[in-house]
Amino acid sequence: MRDKYCGYIGLEDVGKDVLLAGWVFRRRDHGGLVFIDLRDITGVVQIVFSPDISKDAHEMAGDIKQEYVIQIKGRVEKRPVGTENENIPTGLVEVLVKDLVILNTSKALPFQLDDEDEPNETIKLKYRYLDMRRPSVQKIFITRSKAYKAVRDYLVSQGFYEFETPMLTKSTPEGARDFIVPSRINPGTFYALPQSPQLFKQILMIGGFDKYFQIVRCFRDEDLRADRQPEFTQIDMEMSFVDVEDVIKVSEGLIKEIYKTVKGDTLNGSFIRMTYDEAIETYGTDKPDLRFSLPIIDITDIFKNTDFGVIKKAIEKKGVVKSIVLKGKNLSRKDLDTSVDVAKQIGSEGLIWIRKDKDGLQSPVVKYFKEDEKLAIIERLDVKEDDVIFMMTGNRKKVNELMGRFRLYLGERFDLIDKNQFKFLWVTDFPLFEYSEEQKRYVACHHPFTASKTNIKQFDGDYETLKSKAYDLVLNGVEIGGGSIRIHKKDEQMEMFKLLNIKEEEAQEKFGFLLEALEMGAPPHGGIAFGFDRILMMLIGSDSIRDVIPFPKTQKGVCLLTDAPSRVSQKQLSELKIRVIYEKQ
Ligand code: ASP
Repeated sequence: MRDKYCGYIGLEDVGKDVLLAGWVFRRRDHGGLVFIDLRDITGVVQIVFSPDISKDAHEMAGDIKQEYVIQIKGRVEKRPVGTENENIPTGLVEVLVKDLVILNTSKALPFQLDDEDEPNETIKLKYRYLDMRRPSVQKIFITRSKAYKAVRDYLVSQGFYEFETPMLTKSTPEGARDFIVPSRINPGTFYALPQSPQLFKQILMIGGFDKYFQIVRCFRDEDLRADRQPEFTQIDMEMSFVDVEDVIKVSEGLIKEIYKTVKGDTLNGSFIRMTYDEAIETYGTDKPDLRFSLPIIDITDIFKNTDFGVIKKAIEKKGVVKSIVLKGKNLSRKDLDTSVDVAKQIGSEGLIWIRKDKDGLQSPVVKYFKEDEKLAIIERLDVKEDDVIFMMTGNRKKVNELMGRFRLYLGERFDLIDKNQFKFLWVTDFPLFEYSEEQKRYVACHHPFTASKTNIKQFDGDYETLKSKAYDLVLNGVEIGGGSIRIHKKDEQMEMFKLLNIKEEEAQEKFGFLLEALEMGAPPHGGIAFGFDRILMMLIGSDSIRDVIPFPKTQKGVCLLTDAPSRVSQKQLSELKIRVIYEKQ
């Protein structure tokens, strides 16, 4: 239906006839001529209908409206001097139309496709096919397509084999709720949609495949946020005979390839490294945003003999004093009061601020500090005039977390974050276990297949101090990937289940196949998974994951295009032997 793409027509085509097909993007009528920007996937080209070239085509052009689908034949000409458009690649030429075929018409659209006219998201997602016609949206999905290819090319070049693993499967423990699918053939039983292919990829290593990857959909029934979807895409990898450093090396190579594809730019050097403990102590989170500094500094020791009640009490209870110095901002009293309010909103019981001016440290509380404490603060934190120190005291875990959140507030509020930077960071040495307040028991910090750095079978200390061979990749304060070296021996895996309070019977029922496989020559192995959508979202600089997913769901888990989820017929339910309890709205 065509012999050229709109976006590829240029000076080299002048004088030639071309056959084009596409959508009517914009139209203008000028002095008896009709100008149309004809659009296809490659871009737009101006086509001109003149009665001098074809009376018929010119007449028909009078009926053409926006988003009509047309085919034209015409001659490429240089645009008259002064009418060139430097902003588009085809802006030096135009096509004088000889023949026109209207392939389809279009109703008036619910919104304009110009980028200046962004419709609201509900309309955009309901008419996703229209939204997708916008060049800026097309660019995102073309980039996404190129990124898939970059992933495949790189991993294949590194000796990885691509697999598909089942979608109808058994529950895998990534810590979220499962989506379940009833089985008609086995009434009363259910498949789970995979939260990740974790166990299958381990089985593939036991099957001898050495290196596996998959660009795979994962399903987690969680409450949704701007950067979460119930189904999302992971780049999932697993490798045999490796340790932490091997996985990190191959992953950095992969991320650099994706970065190059999406940003057209090279990332140099190795990514930053930090242990989990360092991250928590210095940034109050296991996913620090390193686009700005503002470290959290422990100054507990300065106050070991303090008379200041609040701090004294906290220290007696084994608490800490942690500080952040905001340099050279000369904050007003109003700014300082706002900071205190913000700290309260975050959950802090008290934020102490101290400002340094020409007369020394100023604060409602400095009168309680001893001279040597004041001097030690100034020296340790290198405080200069116009700096402000913020302090919190109390339980270590809580203070770290609150200071971490307060640090982010300061970063945003005082414009300390360079939004053009991409700070990749490996966080390593995660704890093996963490205490779940919700479940009132220890749960695996990564997942129960993660290897410990010390032999758990011989360990009899405090289990909270155990470190694992798990690692996360963090970008600008967001976790974009995580993985671990796995347990590859049955007795260690059983011990792990025992520590997690998973009874032998339950372990057998859920993971019997893995346990048995671990007994038949399982190689040491480990891997990682990256959130593909999230990485794209961040690299293209969007703040919604829905921008990079062709058919995303809303925060309520609804697909506005198809209206899923929806009720099913009584017949379908009967076949599945399912009775639904509809609650009154
Ligand atoms: N299965 C893990 C996840 O989805 C990743 C891994 O351990 O490789 O987070």
